[in-house]
Amino acid sequence: MRIGVSGGKGGTGKSTVATALAVELSKKNKVLLIDADADCPNDHLILSIKRKKAKDVFQLIPKWNLKKCIKCGKCSFVCKQHAIVFIKDKYPIFIPEQCNGCKACIFACPERAIKKGKKKIGSIYYGKKGNISFVSGELEPNQPVSEFVVNAVNDFVKSKQNKYDFVLVDTSAGTHCDVISALKECDFAFAVTEPTPLGKHDLELILNLLKILKIPCFIILNKADIGDKSLIKKTAEKFKTKIIAEIPYKKSILEAYSKGIPIRDKNIAKIADYIKKL
Ligand code: SF4
Ligand code: SF4
Repeated sequence: MRIGVSGGKGGTGKSTVATALAVELSKKNKVLLIDADADCPNDHLILSIKRKKAKDVFQLIPKWNLKKCIKCGKCSFVCKQHAIVFIKDKYPIFIPEQCNGCKACIFACPERAIKKGKKKIGSIYYGKKGNISFVSGELEPNQPVSEFVVNAVNDFVKSKQNKYDFVLVDTSAGTHCDVISALKECDFAFAVTEPTPLGKHDLELILNLLKILKIPCFIILNKADIGDKSLIKKTAEKFKTKIIAEIPYKKSILEAYSKGIPIRDKNIAKIADYIKKL
């Protein structure tokens, strides 16, 4: 069973919940925890897992044969990423950091002066702690396509994930392509939120995305005793889903977070029991 732990807004406690759930579920089951927040993976820090590199992740980039180039500028014209600068009568100038590997320039070149090259955009790491196996993807700084790293992580775990009772996927915040890549094979997902107007707004974004992806979902309300819970209750009603747990904003949780250790809370055990019954 593959379970997404997501939430439109950053800072709601996705990683805190995902790592705590991994610890709880691993007491009696084999768990694979995937940190799919490729821009800023940190689950290994919370779980004190020393990661080892499994492989590098590469992306296609164009490679020019300037002997064939007639300086027509078509490659620059089709590049929506503004990765190719063209000045009349000069060879095109390539900015690799901007390139997302769409290949449009390769197809557009009338002289076949552009071939496929590659650049490293990230790495995949693995680790283990007790019954928790761990995989994370990490994007190199200044690279535009974290979803490529998340897709590579999906490929990396594809042949392995059936060995586990539960696969937990901790996504990044937002509703961009990397979140879609992380969620797309999930059987269901949790949307972690907080009782604030911003929490409600971003929760609706992720619930809309999950609806489009046809992934059943449940809400985990974090920091439940501060703010206005009715905001989230109304959203739950609107999306015909339910709040399955309310985690309070309490000192022991903040202390665990500040020390970088998984939280222990009866609500996490409640969510784990809920998962086991699904
Ligand atoms: S592969 Fe796409 S993004 Fe990269 S330089 Fe060519 S057109 Fe631009
Ligand atoms: S499209 Fe091809 S020929 Fe034209 S400027 Fe680009 S590389 Fe040169």
